[in-house]
Amino acid sequence: MSVLTIRNCLDPVLRKKCDLIENIEESLVTLTDDMIETMYNATGVGLAANQVGISSRLIVVDLGFKDEQHNPITIINPVVTASEEEMIGQEGCLSIPEVYADIKRFQRVEVKGVDLNGKDVRLEVEGFLARAFQHEMDHLEGKLFWDMLGKVKRDMLKRKFKKMLKEMQE
Ligand SMILES: [Zn+2]
Repeated sequence: MSVLTIRNCLDPVLRKKCDLIENIEESLVTLTDDMIETMYNATGVGLAANQVGISSRLIVVDLGFKDEQHNPITIINPVVTASEEEMIGQEGCLSIPEVYADIKRFQRVEVKGVDLNGKDVRLEVEGFLARAFQHEMDHLEGKLFWDMLGKVKRDMLKRKFKKMLKEMQE
C-alpha cells in the first residue's frame, strides 16, 4: 500500500463528474488500498477517488480513527436511495485543509452501490457517518462542501484557503 498525493480544491479533476465503474479490475483493488492508506495518513474520515486524481465513482469512508479501530467501508458507484431529516454540522475536507464550515446534510441516508467483489451493498447510516458519505458522494459529482454555502461565506473561505496555501509554500 502506498500513500497517494491528495489533490487540493484548485485541481480541475475535483470539478469533473466522475465516471461510472463498469469493471472491477485488479488496479481498482490496489487503488482502494492506497486510498484507505492515504485517508489514514491524513487522519481523514473519507476519500473520493478524484481526490487522488482518478475520475471514477469510488469512495472510502472510515470513522475508526476516533477509537483507533479501523473499519473501512468501500463503495463503488454509490447512490443515495433514501434520506431524511436535515442537520447542520461542522465539515472539513482533505482537499481544502484547515478550512471548516457548518453545512446542512441529511441526518439519515440509505446508500446503495457495489463492493470490490461486485456484490450489491445497501447501507443505512446516520449522524456523522451519513455526513461523511454525503460529502464524499458530492466529490463524485465534482462538488465541494463550500458550494453549499452562500457566495460571501464561500469567498471568505476561499481567501482563507489561498492564504494558507501561500504560507505552506513559503
Ligand atoms: Zn472532501
